[in-house]
Amino acid sequence: MTQAAPLLQVEGLRKFFTVKRGFPNPRTVTVRALDGVDFGVREGEAFGLVGESGCGKSTAGRALLRLIEPDEGRVRFRDTDVLALDRQALRALRRKIQIVFQDPYASLNPKRLVGKALAEPMRVHGLAEGRALAERVRALLDEVGLPPEAAERYPHEFSGGQRQRIGIARALSVEPELVVADEPVSALDVSIQAQVLLLLRGLQDKRGLSYLFVSHDLGVVRWFCQGVAVMYLGRIVERGPLPQMFDEPLHPYTQTLRAASPVPDPRARVTMVRIEGEVPSASAPPPGCHFHPRCPHATERCRVEYPAWKEMGQGRGVACHLYDR
Ligand code: SF4
Repeated sequence: MTQAAPLLQVEGLRKFFTVKRGFPNPRTVTVRALDGVDFGVREGEAFGLVGESGCGKSTAGRALLRLIEPDEGRVRFRDTDVLALDRQALRALRRKIQIVFQDPYASLNPKRLVGKALAEPMRVHGLAEGRALAERVRALLDEVGLPPEAAERYPHEFSGGQRQRIGIARALSVEPELVVADEPVSALDVSIQAQVLLLLRGLQDKRGLSYLFVSHDLGVVRWFCQGVAVMYLGRIVERGPLPQMFDEPLHPYTQTLRAASPVPDPRARVTMVRIEGEVPSASAPPPGCHFHPRCPHATERCRVEYPAWKEMGQGRGVACHLYDR
């Protein structure tokens, strides 16, 4: 992992939702989507947040941008206290931190030409106008591998992979320093996934971009990222550099994710393993270690006591009783 200063630092991020569940007599339950989450993204780094659906990783990406207001915690971007910003300052910050969604179609106005969709953020932030604006739209399309004519077409005229390129171009249009990429390739075919990942990697090198890369696929994260935090039911259970964490995972949950991920080396034999058991609900997490109902190493202690976080050296840390000294 690069040793540059942290660009983004997240500490103790917490977000609980209150929802109604049950029929015909709904009752109010609290969903602990984020239950004290810490991680950092260094300048020029791609940092992965990985876990199964419902673990809170997408909520973390949105909460640090305040698309969802967190309940507690600290988010620092360079020297800026993100959670203390007023509306105007937050808008200015969102130029520096952009988000790319899993389904770019949902975030593109179907009635708006792609060229206009790309031009709008630049106009809003006062970055260009007139001929210079049109030239920047053309340059952006070229940068993401789309022809200039794409500017005169509507989103529905493009394939899923092309639409994701448009989503990336729109994020790049305001020249961000950090991109939150929320499952950016998981809706795409495998061959298209590789092309989009190569595009993102190329942009990281060319523009010096940093990424918070949210994914359920540890194999993709292993290939794309330099560091990773593994989330389970709203908490981080292991964190560290890659490829070490993929090659020698410490936490039993990371080991399970690792076994379920295709090995990113195409010459290696692919091992697919099903993760046993369902993810429990974040509204009723199991007592003790939340992973204990699915863990092959669970002991009586695991059923009653949540494991403390332990630093393991070389930038690695884990929350598991197996590593108590
Ligand atoms: Fe498994 Fe216990 Fe470690 Fe939890 S604390 S992951 S149940 S061994």
